[in-house]
Amino acid sequence: MAVLVRDLLEVLIVLAVGAMLVTVVRRLAAGELRVYRCSACARPTSRGYPRCRHCGSEQPDAL
Ligand SMILES: [Zn+2]
Repeated sequence: MAVLVRDLLEVLIVLAVGAMLVTVVRRLAAGELRVYRCSACARPTSRGYPRCRHCGSEQPDAL
């Protein structure tokens, strides 16, 4: 019985990890692959910041 419970837990953990991976992959595929690029140096940066991480220039459409 204990072995059965352990196996069930293992399956649940695998399912949980699998679901997490699917969520991450879906999110990546859904839009976060569209990398925002700096208007000055064209390197990928984050729109969450008003300035480029690389060259420090201000981003016109920063969030
Ligand atoms: Zn830049």
